[in-house]
Amino acid sequence: MTNVSELSSDATVYKTLLESTKAIPWKIDWATMKFAYIGPQIEALLGWSPESWVSAEDWAMRMHPDDRDYVVNFCVSQSKAGVDHEADYRALTKDNGYVWIRDVVHVVRNDKGEVDALIGFMFDISERKKTEEKLLALQKELEALSYKDGLTKIANRRRFDSTLALEWNNARSNQQPLSILLFDVDFFKQYNDLYGHIQGDKCLTDVAQTLNLALTGPRDLVARFGGEEFIVLLPETDAIGARKVAERCQRLIEKQGIIHTQSPNGQHVTVSVGVGTVIPGDRMKSADFIEAVDRQLYAAKENGRNRIETVPTDMQ
Ligand code: GH3
Ligand code: MG
Ligand code: MG
Repeated sequence: MTNVSELSSDATVYKTLLESTKAIPWKIDWATMKFAYIGPQIEALLGWSPESWVSAEDWAMRMHPDDRDYVVNFCVSQSKAGVDHEADYRALTKDNGYVWIRDVVHVVRNDKGEVDALIGFMFDISERKKTEEKLLALQKELEALSYKDGLTKIANRRRFDSTLALEWNNARSNQQPLSILLFDVDFFKQYNDLYGHIQGDKCLTDVAQTLNLALTGPRDLVARFGGEEFIVLLPETDAIGARKVAERCQRLIEKQGIIHTQSPNGQHVTVSVGVGTVIPGDRMKSADFIEAVDRQLYAAKENGRNRIETVPTDMQ
């Protein structure tokens, strides 16, 4: 048997329990949309006194404007449907800041099954959100890093491969030409031997940046292909256009005048270039095309370096 004093002491226990947890309890009467109760902890978290939470309107107005429409619409529709739900949003503090909150809502029904009230708990999830945001930023940074060459800061091979796959498909579906230039720095082993590896690194970075500057098309891409080799992808570019870009790159690198006393080509750093243009056919593989361009690069070396060789048209 439960007597009256035990009941009232139970209520005191419940109230003490509710008001000593970190979660903030609240109740809204469905008919009036007014707060029947909100835990005093709300003031410590947001600065607004419990008495200032009068209606659901106060709750909606003390929400970040970017979250408001979505959260209010979602909560109202769920409540109308009698479904328990939860929502994350930024609650406005009295000093004009925001705190991330997770509101967990239970829909209470009367004997007839009609919605009678909403009761819930607000949880301060700002720490969790901060960690989430940090993780997201880190993830973005990692993604960017995984596509960048660490030394020269231009795109790496991975980025090139994924862009080429896309552009190859584009070129094939639209039957548009696509060109590739393959660059290799001449006598670079000697450059390293003469000036040291650190100076060698600087030379590669300068060449990469020059190639980057030489490109003008919005979808043109230069990537480090490996060691002292660079590759340029020119979507929607025919053989004449590709030749022009190759010459411009060669000229700009020459103009930089990076001293290389043992280079027979004017005692400065030069490049050899292989060029190819293709309108991909249905069964054609991009790897075979790159191999054909690579053979031209090899030919440029064989034919004396500091020159451009192009894949013959009948092979394209
Ligand atoms: P060729 O004129 O035929 O192109 O000869 P090469 O000496 O330029 O070419 P080789 O392939 O014999 O040597 C390439 C050199 O590039 C060897 C390697 O140590 C150097 N190398 C590759 N990656 C880097 C790098 O990241 N930094 C530096 N400093 N050197 C590199
Ligand atoms: Mg090489
Ligand atoms: Mg080389």
